[in-house]
Amino acid sequence: MSAMTTLRTAPPRGVLARPWTIEDSAELYQIRGWGKGYFAINDDGHLVVHPDTARTRSIDLHEVVCGLRERGLTAPVLLRFSDILAHRIRQLHDSFRNAIVENDYRGGYQAVYPIKVNQQRQVVEEVYRFGHEFNFGLEVGSKPELLAVMAITRSAPERMIVCNGFKDDRYIEAVILATKLGRHIIPVVENFTELRLIIKHAEKYGVRPQIGVRVKLASSGAGRWRESSGARSKFGLFVSEVLEMLDLLKEHNMQDCLQLVHCHMGSQVQDIRRVKDAINELAHVYVELAKLGAGLRYLDVGGGLGVDYDGSQTNFESSMNYSLDEYAGDIVYRIGGVCNEVGIEHPTIISESGRAMVAYSSVLVFDVLGSAQMNRHPLGKKFVDELEANGDLPQPIYDLHEAYENVTERRIVECYHDAVQARDQALHLFNLGYMSLPQRALAERLFWATCARINEALRRMPEAPEELEDLEVILSDTYFCNFSLFQSLPDSWAIDQLFPIVPIHRLNEFPSRKAVLVDITCDSDGKIDRFIDARDVRKSLDLHQLNNGDEYYLGVFLVGAYQETLGDLHNLFGDTHVVHIRLDEEGQWWIDEVIRGDTAREVLGYVQYDTEKLYPQLSQDCERAVRESRMTVAESQVLLRFYESGLNGYTYLEPE
Ligand code: PLP
Repeated sequence: MSAMTTLRTAPPRGVLARPWTIEDSAELYQIRGWGKGYFAINDDGHLVVHPDTARTRSIDLHEVVCGLRERGLTAPVLLRFSDILAHRIRQLHDSFRNAIVENDYRGGYQAVYPIKVNQQRQVVEEVYRFGHEFNFGLEVGSKPELLAVMAITRSAPERMIVCNGFKDDRYIEAVILATKLGRHIIPVVENFTELRLIIKHAEKYGVRPQIGVRVKLASSGAGRWRESSGARSKFGLFVSEVLEMLDLLKEHNMQDCLQLVHCHMGSQVQDIRRVKDAINELAHVYVELAKLGAGLRYLDVGGGLGVDYDGSQTNFESSMNYSLDEYAGDIVYRIGGVCNEVGIEHPTIISESGRAMVAYSSVLVFDVLGSAQMNRHPLGKKFVDELEANGDLPQPIYDLHEAYENVTERRIVECYHDAVQARDQALHLFNLGYMSLPQRALAERLFWATCARINEALRRMPEAPEELEDLEVILSDTYFCNFSLFQSLPDSWAIDQLFPIVPIHRLNEFPSRKAVLVDITCDSDGKIDRFIDARDVRKSLDLHQLNNGDEYYLGVFLVGAYQETLGDLHNLFGDTHVVHIRLDEEGQWWIDEVIRGDTAREVLGYVQYDTEKLYPQLSQDCERAVRESRMTVAESQVLLRFYESGLNGYTYLEPE
């Protein structure tokens, strides 16, 4: 194997006997693994987007970010690539179409996009527009989502709307009336109360509705959301209840209305065996109900199709051990097989794939504001000379000095132990009052310098002793980044979701630093210290040395699903700017739409400040200070100008 294919973290400078290349960066950041052809590096060392995976059509991300900056749109910014979304939708359709042909399946396939995955109007409208060709529909899980979708589907009532989640009387009445309006709308029964309401309103308005039922499968789901299915799941009916449901419908002569059987295995199902088990069980429920006289036409396999966030193609939580083609193939094959066994007509297969549809199309870009290094106070000669000249320092300082002097590959673990012990003893003496503050500072300096030496030696060794594996992490830099984790990457904070993070430029340069990222909220949880890795989770990210005053941009990829509406206003950092980028036939990128991020005035309004009064109040305060000679007029004007521009400005840090 070549050095390039074995790279996992950047080697220290000098170990590679050749200049760093973009190939090395592609390998280091595993871009081919998670990028699925949508992302690559160009000859300038910039991250590029191939919106339809064609290598000849690309958008240079760094060029986009610089172009936006010229237009007054500074980072952080969320870039949405509509062409990626269109491509994903086509891929989903094509995979199922191919599986249908290969398996001689006689039913069709339709996706319904669950809008909870990203409800932003622009995203839903694009999914709806790009899905038109394939008759894709929409799925809703709440009353407000239904209201949004009723408006969106006004010009194409034949597009399917699937209603999951809890529904009350008025919700169901609205669904029944929407059927009268001509909408193709299917309420999915989650409990018996809903069924009774459907029957009541159907009879009242003389409507024969299409009804679905969510089944609690015995096959449990997998991964983080495994409890979305199985007997303990919050939603759906047990099989015994489904039979009671059919009986009740029969009593009202409505058994033909039961047209859809649904399950949801949980999101990000990483193991294909779970998909096979659940579909097999659901298909059997489907055929049994059909045999008992239900008017079934649709089999809805729910969401769950994963995204390979770390590119490892394994059943690790942030990955998936199957491809889209395999997923579609298994579903079609199993449903077809079960129906064939009993001679039941093949249903139209519906999937509610949200994450897999939209995750790829958004990239968050933010700038790095600065960095801090653990060994930022190197042990200069001055200190060593002082140490050697001074004969009456506390013993731990001499012990630390000795550990520092004796770092060799052969004695590396021993040295580390000596340094830790001497550092602990030094702290103990300090706490007892036997060591001065400058002496403690010297001990600290010696300890970190020793760790840095050990780390250097480690990087020359083929394998790190297990005991020292974390040293690199302890010594890694902290990069301060202009974004809020809570607003833009809530799943990173809440559920330890991993996302690929890569500098969007300088990828032809050696990334000499290892770092963890912290955001600009005043919250110690606002950090990222877990990164994707082909085999495990990395605890630091290889990044470039910051060049004084030069911008350094990082991109977080595959963030199109779930992150936007789950984000919150922690520390009053609001929505980032969002920009829709498209690529024209000539290969030129252009800005389709800009949604400006929140201003400070807007976020203060969200938390009930009367933003109209804020400026006048401060202005009065300033006048009082001028009158009482605590401030000059000029000073008051500086403060008021800051306040006014702050209120109307971005909530994130902006360059001068
Ligand atoms: N359908 C239902 C009922 C869901 O609850 C969800 C999300 O949890 C989805 C579809 C979307 O799942 P995914 O994004 O994994 O495709």
